[in-house]
Amino acid sequence: MISLKRTSGGVRVDDKKDLSAGSPIEPAGIPGELVLFLSQHTGAPSKPVVKVQDLVKRGQLLAEPQGAISAALHAPTSGKVKAIEPRYHPIQGRLVDAIVLEPDGKNEVFEGVVPRARDLDSISGEEIIAFVREIGLVGLGGAAFPTAVKLTPPADKPIDTYLLNGAECEPYLTSDYRLMLEEAEVVIFGFRALLKAARVARGIVCIEDNKPEAISAMQRAMSPFPELDLAVLPSRYPRGGEKQLIEAVLGREVPPAGLPLDVGVIVSNVGTAFTLGKAIRTGLPLVERVISVTGEGVTRPSNFLALIGTPVSYLIEKAGGFSGTPGKVIMGGPMMGISVKSLDVPVLKGTSGIVVLKKEQVKKDKMLPCIRCGRCVDACPLRLLPVWMAAYAERGLLEEAERARVLDCCECGACAYECPAKRPLVQWIRMAKSEILAKRRAQNHARK
Ligand code: SF4
Ligand code: SF4
Repeated sequence: MISLKRTSGGVRVDDKKDLSAGSPIEPAGIPGELVLFLSQHTGAPSKPVVKVQDLVKRGQLLAEPQGAISAALHAPTSGKVKAIEPRYHPIQGRLVDAIVLEPDGKNEVFEGVVPRARDLDSISGEEIIAFVREIGLVGLGGAAFPTAVKLTPPADKPIDTYLLNGAECEPYLTSDYRLMLEEAEVVIFGFRALLKAARVARGIVCIEDNKPEAISAMQRAMSPFPELDLAVLPSRYPRGGEKQLIEAVLGREVPPAGLPLDVGVIVSNVGTAFTLGKAIRTGLPLVERVISVTGEGVTRPSNFLALIGTPVSYLIEKAGGFSGTPGKVIMGGPMMGISVKSLDVPVLKGTSGIVVLKKEQVKKDKMLPCIRCGRCVDACPLRLLPVWMAAYAERGLLEEAERARVLDCCECGACAYECPAKRPLVQWIRMAKSEILAKRRAQNHARK
């Protein structure tokens, strides 16, 4: 087992994982309509290869990737392409083109969906990368970055370690926990495929110590493979962030504005490894994922294997409906997730959970003046100065905010969580980031 390095920042949160941790993964079923955004990953949107009225089957290609950073999109079940039209995107907060599929209930599988390999000796690293691209695999931890791009870093960035992120530090969410518990063997198979594809000799499975059963299951599954090691991390939010994980496990600091590959590391989520492992054995592309539907505001907190594109309302209904009066429905976890404005929005490839909070839990704290206590600074895992960044942002001092490294902020929310004056630090920081980036885009555009 890996011995951990000292890290700074982070906060202790009430993880509320007990609400859904005991709920085994169950299929959510097929809703009446699936909405599949062409842009549900980092990078360029995919381009439709089907047209309205086409009949498609489960696993059939619906849209192909465009450009170097993009991902393919497949039909989660059989049915008819009802429309290709803009729909409201819950993360981007605007209308985005989507393929709308009307399922026929038969769930017929496309003939091209066939197992790729029995074991990893019968598939090469290059074939795995091509397959990862073909199945539209993206990081399932939230950012949805195309995995094939991660597996092919530039030649001047040698990678020596691959981390499998099973920390799942966001409160409430237990989808990764259940995967590690129920599907440890497939997760490890997929992780070894990722290692082979990236030509990395050393893999470390990283899990927080609040998941002892998952640690045992993963330890058993990885024991035949000497190239794999285990790191058990004390639970502290946001330990599962890529940069924090690398620092805690390897003692390497990703430089400001840098990426894990700058310090010789690739990080993937356990859900990504599971999807690849299953896909190699069955041929099924990324068309479904495990999603926790949890929180005090649902009757039966659950973990569902849900088709990509399933409406949030359908999943809440499957979880027994609302318990009491809902106050907030969050896509993702409560720390970094996005509050959804309509329950009609669909889940995306990067959706790990739906958290429903009751009305009485969503009290609006009165914001008070900053008392210069420094707790936000102590909480920041990236050693930033949230109090200053937010103060500059609030006053519209964008240059000062940029100099204070506002663009490095990962928006983890640890600072705001700790602030006794209830100052909306992340909101201000986020606003400054988007204004700085918009200004840069406008300047680049003017130069062309
Ligand atoms: S939201 Fe940004 S500033 Fe606040 S703790 Fe996280 S990384 Fe630091
Ligand atoms: S934690 Fe809140 S009150 Fe304390 S210094 Fe930071 S912004 Fe000010």
